[in-house]
Amino acid sequence: MATSKLKAAILIVSDTAFKDPSTDESGIKLENVFSDQANTWEVKYTLIIPDDVNAIQQHISQCCDDEADYINFIITTGGTGFAVKDRTPEAVKPMIDREAPGLVYAMLAASLAKTQFAMMSRPVAGIRKKTLILTVPGSPKGAVENLEAVIKQLPHACMQAAGVDSRTLHAGGIKKLEQEAGLTSQPKADHHHHHHGHGPGHSHGLSGHTIPKAHTKPRDLPISNDPRAGPTSRHRQSPYQMFSVEDATRLIIEHTPSPVPVRMPVDGALVGHVLAEDILAREAVPAYRASIVDGYAITVSSEGPSTKGTFAVASVSHATPGQVPTLEPGTIARITTGAPLPPGATSVVMVEDTVLSSMTEDGHEEEIVEILTDEVRPDENVRQVGSDIKYGETVLRKGDEISAVGGELGLLASVGIPEVTVFEKPIVGVMSTGDEVVEHGRPGDLRLGEVRDCNRPTIMAAIRGWGFDVVDLGIAKDTPGALEQALRDAMRKVSVIVTTGGVSMGELDLLKPTIERSLGGTIHFGRVSMKPGKPTTFATVPFKNNAGDPETRLIFSLPGNPASAVVTSHLFLLPSLHQACGISPAGLPQAVVVLDHEFGLDKVRAEYHRAMVVSKADGLLHASSTGGQRSSRVGSLKGANALLCLPAGDGMLAKGERVKALIMGRLLGQQ
Ligand code: AMP
Ligand code: MG
Repeated sequence: MATSKLKAAILIVSDTAFKDPSTDESGIKLENVFSDQANTWEVKYTLIIPDDVNAIQQHISQCCDDEADYINFIITTGGTGFAVKDRTPEAVKPMIDREAPGLVYAMLAASLAKTQFAMMSRPVAGIRKKTLILTVPGSPKGAVENLEAVIKQLPHACMQAAGVDSRTLHAGGIKKLEQEAGLTSQPKADHHHHHHGHGPGHSHGLSGHTIPKAHTKPRDLPISNDPRAGPTSRHRQSPYQMFSVEDATRLIIEHTPSPVPVRMPVDGALVGHVLAEDILAREAVPAYRASIVDGYAITVSSEGPSTKGTFAVASVSHATPGQVPTLEPGTIARITTGAPLPPGATSVVMVEDTVLSSMTEDGHEEEIVEILTDEVRPDENVRQVGSDIKYGETVLRKGDEISAVGGELGLLASVGIPEVTVFEKPIVGVMSTGDEVVEHGRPGDLRLGEVRDCNRPTIMAAIRGWGFDVVDLGIAKDTPGALEQALRDAMRKVSVIVTTGGVSMGELDLLKPTIERSLGGTIHFGRVSMKPGKPTTFATVPFKNNAGDPETRLIFSLPGNPASAVVTSHLFLLPSLHQACGISPAGLPQAVVVLDHEFGLDKVRAEYHRAMVVSKADGLLHASSTGGQRSSRVGSLKGANALLCLPAGDGMLAKGERVKALIMGRLLGQQ
C-alpha cells in the first residue's frame, strides 16, 4: 500500500539545527505524529534548512512544482516567531497560490487554549499547485500541538488540493473518506471517532482514489539520507526507485556527454579511437607503376615482335627511390619486386622464364638474357598507379574504429595521412571508499575488520584492458568531508569517476548524500534490479573547467562487494565510455550460448552469472558456471570470460538451453 499513501515533507527551519542536527527535536516529534497514522501518511523527507528565505522557497518549490511527482503536504517548523531572523512566513506566503486561513485559525485556537504564548506565532497555511503547506512553531511541543490540531482534516484537504473529484470525496461523507483514508483502522484514530452505525472499518487505504502516484522518477530534491541527521530520520528502505538493467543503461547513455573531436597523429596510440571525419586518399597506391615479381621489364605490344629471344640488359631497377632511365626499344631492364617500371616498359617477365646468356666483361653484370616465353601480355605483372587505392577515394568513414587488427591504421599510413580527427576518449578515475579498506599491498597482517582493497586494482585493470586511460584516486574515508573533498579533487582530474562501496543502506554509506547534497549532483538511478549489483548508482555532477565553461562529470558509484563491483563496471561503465568516444554498439558484445549444466534462477532479479564460454566441436558456444556467485566472492570471476544473462524466474534453466551471454574476455576454442 506504500504507493497509495499521502506524502509528507518536514522542513525544519533553524540555523541552530542546521549547524548541529543533534539539537533538533521537532523533526522527530513531527515524524511520530505521522507514523501514528502510518496507513495514511508517509514522510518522504525530513530536511533541516537554515532560516533563509531562499533556501525555504527553493525546497518548497522542489516539493511542489513537479506535476508528475509532488509532495502532498509540507509542514515547516520554526521561524514563525517575532525574532528578526524568523522569516518562515515571509518565505512561505509568496509561494502560496490559495490561502487557508481556516487551518491557521484552528491551530491558533487549539494552542491558545493551552498557552497565551500562542499569540506569538505567525502561522501561514495554503495551497501551492497541488500541495498543502503549513507552518508551525519551532518548539517541539508547539509544533506537535499545532499539527495535531488539524491533522484529521489534512487527508481530505490534500486530496482536494490534488484535484481528486470532490463529488467522489463527498459521496460517502467525510466519515467514509476518513475510513477509506485508513484513519478509522488505526486504534488511536478509532478512539477519537464516533461512528454512526458504520460496520467494522473497511480499510481500503487510499487505493480506490485517483490520488497522486508513488514516487516514480528521480527528482532534483535530494532523496538521500542527510548524514547529519540522526538515526531516526534515516531511511529504513532505499527511497530510490528500482530500475531494470535496460532502463538503467538507457539513462547512462542518455546522460553521457556527446563525443568531443580532437586531432591526433597517425600512430599506434590511435588504436581504439573512432574517426570523427571521412578520410580521403591524399595519394594513389601504388603511386607509380610497380613490378609484382622479380624479372625483366620489357615492352610488349599485341602486334609487335615476339618477346621470345635474346635481349641486351640495359639497366637495373631496384625497389629504391630515384630516377629510372627510359627503356630503349629492343632492350630489357632487370627489375625487382615493387620497383618502378622504366618509362616505355609495358610488362615484366618473371626471372623463372629467362636464362642468362652472357655477363659483362668485368663479370659483375648481366649482358644478354634469353626470354623463353612468347606469352607475356601487355601490363602483365604490373600494378598500375592507384590500382589498390585511387587518389581522392574515401578510404575510411566517420564512425570507423581504428582497430588493433591493423587494417585502418594501415590505410591511413598508406595514403599519407599524418593526422586525423577522432573522438576523445574519456579519462576514468577509480576510487575505493571505506574506513576498513587498506592498500592491497600493505605489509603485515590485517587488523580485525580491515579489508584489502580488491576493487581498485581490479577495475583499473579492466578499464585499461578496454583501452582507456585510468587515474588512481586512492581510498577515501567514510566521512562526509573526506569523501566530498576526494570527489571534488577527482572532478578536476578526470571526467568519469568510479567509486566502490558506500552505496548500501548503512549510516556510513555516504556516496548518495554527498553527490546530491554536497556536490549538487543528480542521481539518475540508485537501485537496479539485478544480481549482483543492486545498489549501483549513477549520477551526473555539474562542473566548471579551468576556463569557466560548464562541463558534466559522471559518477558511477558501484557496490563495495568485489564481484558486484567488477560485474557492474562491465555492465554500466563500459557502455558509457564507449558512448563518450563514439564506439558503437556500446558495451559488451553478445552471443547466444548453450548451457553445459543446469542453472538456478533468482525469483525477482535478473542475474549476471559469471561463466566460462568455449567454442566446442559442434560449432556452438558452451557455457559453464565459475562456481559460487556470492557478490563478495571475486573468485567467481576467475577464469570467467562471460556474463550469462539469466532472467528472473522460478526454478531452473536446464542443461542444453540457450541464453544470451555478454562476452567480457577472450573467447577460447576447445584445444
Ligand atoms: P559497502 O557498500 O561500503 O558497505 O561495502 C560492501 C562490502 O564490500 C563490505 O563488506 C566492504 O568491506 C566490501 N568492500 C568495500 N570496498 C571494498 C574494496 N575496495 N575491496 C574489497 N572489499 C570492499
Ligand atoms: Mg563502506
